Parts: sequence; structure tokens; C-alpha cells
Amino acid sequence: MVAELSVELATQLQRATELLQSAKSICVLTGAGISAESGIPTFRDKQTGLWKNFRAEDLASPSAFARDPKLVWSWYQWRRQLVQDKLPNPAHQALAEWQQKNLASSSLISSSSTDISPPNRPQITLITQNVDDLHEQAGSDVIHLHGHLWRNRCHQCDMVYEAADNDSAAIFDDDLILCQHCGGYIRPDIVWFGESLPVEAWQDAEVSAANCEVFMSIGTSSLVYPAAGLAQLAKQNGAKVIEINPNPTPSSIVDITLAAKAGTLVPLLVASLSEWQK
Ligand code: NAD
Ligand code: ZN
Repeated sequence: MVAELSVELATQLQRATELLQSAKSICVLTGAGISAESGIPTFRDKQTGLWKNFRAEDLASPSAFARDPKLVWSWYQWRRQLVQDKLPNPAHQALAEWQQKNLASSSLISSSSTDISPPNRPQITLITQNVDDLHEQAGSDVIHLHGHLWRNRCHQCDMVYEAADNDSAAIFDDDLILCQHCGGYIRPDIVWFGESLPVEAWQDAEVSAANCEVFMSIGTSSLVYPAAGLAQLAKQNGAKVIEINPNPTPSSIVDITLAAKAGTLVPLLVASLSEWQK
């Protein structure tokens, strides 16, 4: 409830609502923080259990996989087990509802395209750094910059690997799998630190950021580039920047900071926008 917010937060929420309400194009970038309330730890959270002595950044890299493929594969199998039963939280759900209401269906804004949204309905492009599928589960159309936790491919020839069956023991098995095409190791289809982003997803994200009137960053530390550069690109092109994060980043480009958890703030923001649009 808005009434339960601090005066400062309620004021910022009001400012954010006014800004979004008048925008024709909105770009939303989400990070691990939006899935934290679904029970998926962020990279800044401490690792737990077996993995408490490892840093995520040291495992999610091509050099780590080259050094010890079994270690990296086992870590991802553990992460998959951790994520498998997690569900979208109110932040994912509210974003999906907002997107659907605005009939944006994440249509990409190209410089030549015309605005297909009805009057007062902005185009909303949702971009995520997350590798989980909670946005899709909630019903959103989303651009994935960092790949997909549930997909695999060969580390050598890039061939997509499909598990032979849906047996969960096989899906989460720690044993390395060899590519049937070239004999290379199968790896998760995730963009690791130091690797390039998928070309099409990145181009779409850049076009959306460069053309939006409001850029909203939710649950990201804004430390991982190039994704973190999207807010700067938007700002350089005249957009206002909103950040939702209980631990706001020290960024100087943010115009409105909503220092609260996404699961609380995003539903309030979307409800507040719906009020305006009535
Ligand atoms: P990050 O771990 O660097 O930062 C997470 C941010 O979320 C922090 O700034 C934190 O303050 C904020 N946060 C924590 N709880 C929040 C909440 N309830 N509401 C809003 N914000 C909250 O994550 P990142 O910026 O996404 O970048 C790290 C990399 O981690 C990305 O490449 C991503 O692919 C990967 N990652 C993905 C997942 C996932 O798919 N769910 C999980 C962990 C890491
Ligand atoms: Zn191969």
C-alpha cells in the first residue's frame, strides 16, 4: 500500500508515475535483484552450502570452464536445481500485466517504425540480464542479454544440445556431457563474464535504450557491462532514468531513485499508472 511508504518514497513514486505516464516509449532493464524475492540468490549474495568458498564471478567464465569444466558444470547443475521450482514474484507479474495492458508485446522500436500503440499507451521493451525464465513464466515478452539457464550448447562447435528425456536425474546430473557432433563438452547457453552478448538481442536492446523516453533499471548492481551501459546510452539520448533497488547504486545518471524491493515497488508503480490511465 502506498500509505505504508515513507514520505520520501511516496514522493519519488509519484514523480516516477508522472514521468512514465507521459512517456511514449519505455525501456526496462532487470537484473538478478528482481528474482531475489522468488528465492534465487543474486551474485552479490553470499554463496551457500557446497559453494560457499567460491565466487560466482570465478565460476561463470570461459577460463574457469577451460580449467575445470566439471566444477563449472556442477555449479550450474546446482543452480538449476535451486531455480527449478521458483516462481515469478509480484514484480515479474506486475511488469507482465503492464506490458500486456499496453499491448506493447515488446515490439522493438526501430528508427523507421511507427508507433503502433494506442494513444496514451507507451511501447514497453523489457530487457533482462537474468538467465532464469521468471519473466516468461509471468507472461512477459523479454529480451535476454545473458542467455538461458535451461539451454545447453557445445563449448566447441556451438551445436545446441537437447537432453534425450525429461528425466530430472539426467537434467541435474553432475557428469559432463560430450557433444555428439564434435566430442566437445556441453556447457550452459549462458553469456559468461568476458564473452560477447548475442548480437541480435544486444542490437534490439541498444535500439530500445537509445529511443526511449524513460529508462527504468530494476534490481541490477549496474556493474556488469555492456548491459550497464544501456542506461547511459538512454541518458545520452535524452531519456530520464529511474532506478528501483533497495541498495541504490552510486550512479549520477539516475533521475529518480526508488529505494525499495522490486516486489513491493513495481506492483505499486503499475497500480499507480493504471489509476492514471483510467
Ligand atoms: P547483481 O547480483 O550484480 O546485483 C543485484 C542487485 O539487485 C543489487 O544491486 C541488489 O541491491 C539488488 N537487489 C537485491 N534484492 C532486490 C530486490 N528485492 N529488489 C530489487 N533489487 C534488489 O545482479 P546483476 O546486476 O543482474 O548482474 C550480475 C549477473 O548475474 C548478471 O549477468 C546475471 O546474468 C547474473 N545472475 C542472474 C541471476 C538470475 O537469472 N536470476 C541470478 C544471479 C546472477
Ligand atoms: Zn560440438
